[in-house]
Amino acid sequence: VPTLAIRGGTVATMDVARSVVARDVLVNAEGRVEALSQPGPPAAGEQTIDASGCVVVPGLVQAHIHLCQTLFRGLAEDRALLSWLRDRIWPLEAAHDAESLRASARLGIAELLLGGTTTILDMGTVHHTEVLFETASETGIRYTGGKAMMDAGDGVPAGLLESTADALRESDRLSDRWHEAEGGRLRYAYSPRFALTSTFDLLRSVAVRVRSNDVLVHTHASEQKEETELVRRRFGAPNIQLLANLGLCDGNVCLAHCVWPEDGELDTLATGGAHVVHCPSCNLKLGSGVAPVAEYLDAGVNVALGADGAASNNRLDGWEELRLAGLLAKARGGPQSLRAVEVFELATLGGARALGLDGEIGSLEVGKWADVAIVDLRSAHAAGLDDVYTQLVYSARASDVRTVLVAGRVLVEDGRPVRLDLDETLAQARRQRLAVMQRAGVTP
Ligand SMILES: [Zn+2]
Repeated sequence: VPTLAIRGGTVATMDVARSVVARDVLVNAEGRVEALSQPGPPAAGEQTIDASGCVVVPGLVQAHIHLCQTLFRGLAEDRALLSWLRDRIWPLEAAHDAESLRASARLGIAELLLGGTTTILDMGTVHHTEVLFETASETGIRYTGGKAMMDAGDGVPAGLLESTADALRESDRLSDRWHEAEGGRLRYAYSPRFALTSTFDLLRSVAVRVRSNDVLVHTHASEQKEETELVRRRFGAPNIQLLANLGLCDGNVCLAHCVWPEDGELDTLATGGAHVVHCPSCNLKLGSGVAPVAEYLDAGVNVALGADGAASNNRLDGWEELRLAGLLAKARGGPQSLRAVEVFELATLGGARALGLDGEIGSLEVGKWADVAIVDLRSAHAAGLDDVYTQLVYSARASDVRTVLVAGRVLVEDGRPVRLDLDETLAQARRQRLAVMQRAGVTP
């Protein structure tokens, strides 16, 4: 029995045929799509959302986010990766307490939901990971995350460095508590930060858990050239090959960035089945380079999109990442590289596949969760008779998103968050940002 209906819109379904159709989306009490029906009048007793003139799309999936860094927006400018981490981000993360982390997560989730992102894969910091799950729980976003594991490395502050055993024990405890919680809306991902802050033992122990428990792994790989050279020096193998050798290159593994694959590593990824998360804004802003996305797709590697964190972007805007992914693919491979619908796939089905959720989200089809964004493209910057996917990728902005649902629950209504008080979220963020900066000894 439908309890909610989104009526009058044009649905960009992302089904197998990539159909764009005038349909009403009927949502059942569980929060799943019950039917895509011919447009009709409201049924008795239903909650109706009027999407007339709007485009109804699957909520965006961003498969690489750091909610813990939202408060650090603008505090780590003009730096390459390793200085960005050692001199700014790690000291700031080490200075987080539970309340500053909560303010950071709320601000990030507010931005994400307002912009139509309904699912994220988030890398936490080392401590207070409960707060991230609690915030995902209260705000209603679909969340997979985990504590960052850091048991080695140059320049890691004492506040973030843990023993291998502690990093594993805490991750196991959090996974037991949160994986598949709240009807599967909250899930856990083991998150060794990257090779340079991991011991061999940590990576191997995570790989053992992947094999035996079907858990997810989220890490960074081959983001900057300097990093890949250090990884090779320390471990004697290229970054992606190292992960593959350890058993961390299969379909449960999400690798953020992969800007600098070495010879043979495209095949390694394709054979293993690991997912690449393309973060174009962050890669440009830290001067990292441009990932060979079209080459990955041609090789059969699944690619998802992500904004990374607000300290390296400086937004969490899925539409910006879509547009840049399209533009950069064309800069690398020529104007025919990646059609708009293929780009849109990165932030929908590509993200869903990366999270192992492609049976549940990523398209608007009967039986999937009603994770939906309603986008109004009748604006000066988007109006036109374009193909809908072209409008979505190249013209749409986060501010065009009107209404957002996760599992059939309305989380943004007419551009306002329903469960979060935006003014309070912004005020808390201002206060907690100053507090965490003070604790870290960072001045603007
Ligand atoms: Zn990252």
